[in-house]
This record gives sequence, C-alpha cells and structure tokens, in this order.
Amino acid sequence: MKEAQKIKNRTEVPHEETWDLTDLFKDFTDWEKNFMALPKEEEIEKAIHQNFKNKLSESPKILLNCLLFKEELSRKLENLFVYASLRSTEDTSNTQATEAVGKIENKMSLLTSKFAFMNPEILTIKNLENWIQQEPLNDYKFKLSELIRSKKHILSEKEEAILARVSVPLRIFDEIHSKWNNADLKFLPVIDSQGNSHIVSNSRYSLNLQSQDRNLRINTFHSYYTEIAKWRNTITSNYYGNMVSGSNISKIRNFSGFLEGELFDDNIPLELYDGLISEVKKNIQLLHRSMKLRKNILKIDSVYPYDRAVSLYESKQNPTFSWEEGRDLVLKAIAPLGKEYVEIATKGLTKDRWIDRAENEGKRSGAFSWGTFDSRPYILQTWNGTLGDVYTLAHELGHSMHTYYSNKNQPYHKAHYTIFVAEVASTLNEALLSNYIITHMKGSDLAKSVLSENLENFEGTVLRQTLFAAFEREASKIVDQDETFTPDKLENIYLDLNKEWYGSESTFPEFTKYEWMRIPHFYSAFYVYKYATSYCASLALSEAFFIDENKAREQVFKILKAGGSKSPLEILKDAGIDFLTPAPVTNAFKNYQKNIQRAEEELF
Ligand SMILES: [Zn+2]
Repeated sequence: MKEAQKIKNRTEVPHEETWDLTDLFKDFTDWEKNFMALPKEEEIEKAIHQNFKNKLSESPKILLNCLLFKEELSRKLENLFVYASLRSTEDTSNTQATEAVGKIENKMSLLTSKFAFMNPEILTIKNLENWIQQEPLNDYKFKLSELIRSKKHILSEKEEAILARVSVPLRIFDEIHSKWNNADLKFLPVIDSQGNSHIVSNSRYSLNLQSQDRNLRINTFHSYYTEIAKWRNTITSNYYGNMVSGSNISKIRNFSGFLEGELFDDNIPLELYDGLISEVKKNIQLLHRSMKLRKNILKIDSVYPYDRAVSLYESKQNPTFSWEEGRDLVLKAIAPLGKEYVEIATKGLTKDRWIDRAENEGKRSGAFSWGTFDSRPYILQTWNGTLGDVYTLAHELGHSMHTYYSNKNQPYHKAHYTIFVAEVASTLNEALLSNYIITHMKGSDLAKSVLSENLENFEGTVLRQTLFAAFEREASKIVDQDETFTPDKLENIYLDLNKEWYGSESTFPEFTKYEWMRIPHFYSAFYVYKYATSYCASLALSEAFFIDENKAREQVFKILKAGGSKSPLEILKDAGIDFLTPAPVTNAFKNYQKNIQRAEEELF
C-alpha cells in the first residue's frame, strides 16, 4: 500500500501553484496601511451632510457626484474585503486573515449604512425620468431606472421598518429545514449485495445511489424514505410557513402573488417561468426515451427512482489528469471561443497566476471564481486530478473570463453581472469540454463516461430542476389563493409530476412522493428554474457553434462584455437567446436528443 502523503502547510506550497494577489495588495502590511487610510465615519457623515443629503433633487450634477462618491468608497472597501477573504480561503487557519475579514466587514456595514438615505431621496426627484435621458446621468440610466421600477413596491418608511423587523424571524423555516435535514434525521445502515454494511446519511445517499450494486441502491432508498416519511406533517407545516409568509409579503408589496414578487429583481416575467415548464413538458418524451435506454443498458425491468443516478458506462479505470494535462485539455476545448479568448485564458492559467490550485492544510474546500474590478479574476480550486476537477476548472474559468471581459468593457457601476447570466458563461465552457471529448476522443473510455454523464447532467439540471419549479408553482398557487397545505395535497402534486416526467418506462414506489420533503432549495423559493434556464442558454450557444462558428462566437462575446449593463433577459436577447420564445429550450432539447442517440449507438 502507498503511504499517504502528508498535506503541506501553506508556507511549503510551491509558488506557481498559488494565485498572485498583488493586484490588490502586496501583503497584510500594505493592506493595513490602506485600511487605516479609509475615511472615518465622521468624515463620511460630514461630506454627506454638506454636499448631498436633502440636496439630490437640486441638480443632476449633485446626484451624479453622490453616486460617484459612494462608488469610490465601495471600490476601496471591496478591494480590502476581497483580499482578506481570499487570504482566508487559501488557509482558513490564518488568524491574521480571519481578523482582517472581520475588521473590514464591520467597517463596510458602518460606512455603507450612511448611504441609506440615498434611494428614498432619489425616488422623490420629480424630474428623474428626464434626468436619466441626458448628460451627465445617462450613463446611470439602467441603474436609476431599475430604482424607478421598484417604486411601486416600496412601502412607507414605517411599513418598511416593520417588514425589516419581521423578515428576520421569517427566515426560520429554512433554518428549521436545514437543522432537521442535517442534524435530526437518523438513518438505519444498509447492506449491499455482498452483505457489507454501509452507512446512510445525506451525503452518502447520493453516493450510494450512484453505485452499480442495485441492492445497495434499493436498501439505501428504503432506509432514507422510511425515516423521512415519519416527518410528513411537520415538514408540510414548515414548508407552508415559508410559502405563506412569502406570498403575504409579495401581496403586501403590491405583487399579484409570491412568484411575481420573487421574479421582480431580475425583471423576469411570469410567462418565462410558465413557458419553461410547458416547453419542457412538450419535449418530455425524450426523457421517456432516455429512461428506456437506461432500462435496457442496466438490464432492469423498469427504471425506479434509485436507478436514475447510476452511470450508463462503467469505466474500466477512473481517468486521472496531471495539472498540465487537465489545463491543456480545457484550453483545447475552448478553442471555438477564438484565439484571443484562449490566449488570455492561457496566460491566466500560467504566468498570470489567476488560480490557486495548491493542496494545503486549512484550504477551503470546493471551488469559486472571484475578484474585484481592479484585480485580475481569481480561481480557488484544489487540484486532485479527477475528471470532475477538469470540469470544475472549465466552469470556473468561464466565470473568470466573463469577469475579465465585463471589467474591460464596462465602467465599475455596470460591470457586475447577475446570477441569471453568470452561469451561462461557466456552463458553456463545460458544454464545450464535453463536445471536445465526445467528438475528438470518440470511442475512448473517457468519451463514453462523458456521454453518460452528459445525459445525467441534462436530466438532473434541466429536467429535474424544472420538475421542482413546476412543484413550487403549484404550491404557490395554493397559498396565493389563501388555501392551506396538507401532506396528501403536496405528495399528490409531486407524484403526478414524477409520473408525467419519467413516463411509462419507470415505476414509482410508494416512497417517491416523499422526495419533495428533502429538497433544501424549496426554501429559496423559485430559484431552481435558473439552473434550467442557464443550462438551456449555454447548450443553445454550444449548439450554435456547430452551425456558424463566427456568429456563435459573436453571440457569446455579447454576453461576456455586457456585464450588468442591462437586464439579464435583454443581455441574453442581444446574444440571440430570447427566453420569451420557446427557442432556447427547444435548442437545448436538440442537443439532448443528439446525445441520447449517440448513447444508443455507442453505449448499448
Ligand atoms: Zn458557477
């Protein structure tokens, strides 16, 4: 047996495996110097009082100066905050970094609270709609018209204060669910077909369901849902609490119901949400076809819920990649995005050191892309060389390149993009990686694994998340009509949707109807549909590369360069993805169909 290698301390990690944070600060001494140079609270207060408060409606110039004054400060605070946070994620045991994060967080909340007068005062400006059409405020047109759009839904100062007070206890339903899910549920251990015992927990649940051993999957499923089912009354009431408070607050804020209120920030119309569900339903026979293939490949009588996560291709050995191999594979796969894109990414992943890929004691797990307007984009990842790592790199690099182009092409106040478009750039890179592996390495072990994984990803992201979205939609209709939940009502909705989605090649044991209870995302209401839309958008884009590479590239760059300069739907529409039509979803299903066909030919 190979001796386990000792994990290095942060100080022992090779320089080239770490990120270069010097765009932000040289070190903590430099950071401290800049922190001390921040304006004092009294100075900010004085400046606001002398120049801006109760004066914003006097002239566009004063309003502009106030916006700029706030921006200049935010930019400094962000740089300090991001540096301290990045240092703390590279080594969570670094107490200097932890203290710095606390210090800057405190300072940020103190200083930004001084600007609370701004939005209410801006909304009292009578000529605001005219002001934003011309110099010098036209550059802030989008930002300020978003504020005007929200006017109808902002209440009186006193009412806002009441809502702010009650919003804290109303967040408890999510917390209750999380405590229940992570601490209170206790599952009985199970045995596999060899008689070996396995524990069942939230994290082991999905691992066990990926096992090729069907007995392990069946037993895990039964152990899990036997426990869950005991709580159906409690969890139904808890979910009701979450939904009814959301619905009531939306109505108090002059929305027609919960969903409309939740879609407001991204300026997404109800029709998009409902349209996504109906388009997926129209194409649902493809999922039935995939289930049939699954049944045949796995040689089972019917597909049960515990058969959906197991790979259709059992790889002989798990592929591993050195950092250089993984990096170069990603760089080859993104070639359709053009020479310039690849060159910038290559520099970022080599001498510009965007990425911290070292493995060291205390490093935060998982991966992310982050940075500020003034810095290069940064990626945190721990490279272990799995295929999953290669995909994570492609994903995070997509975010980083998006940030790079947004910062280059937009001023500070328009550079920040929303979640609705963010995941398009990252999942597009994943899609390109899959395309590359499937077409350039056709027939290989790797290509076959990727083919199977592609189907599972589409089914898990687009189809399953839209099923969740449809469930939330039905549940919200009940609370919006002032009716209440019963366990039966929710379980029937969930079971019916499952039957419609997975079709006649599947079987739905009694336990299927309890699954809704375990989904934590239901407590961030109407969030999961965004997984489906961004995945569809990125697949639609990756499909476009097969038709006209130059045109597709142009489309992608429109998104990358737009930052947050427009509403997310407008940004996507400029890039040729119009979510108010069925096209993006239909195109994504074309990609799915192609992959099912490939899988039928190559895996069966
Ligand atoms: Zn992401």
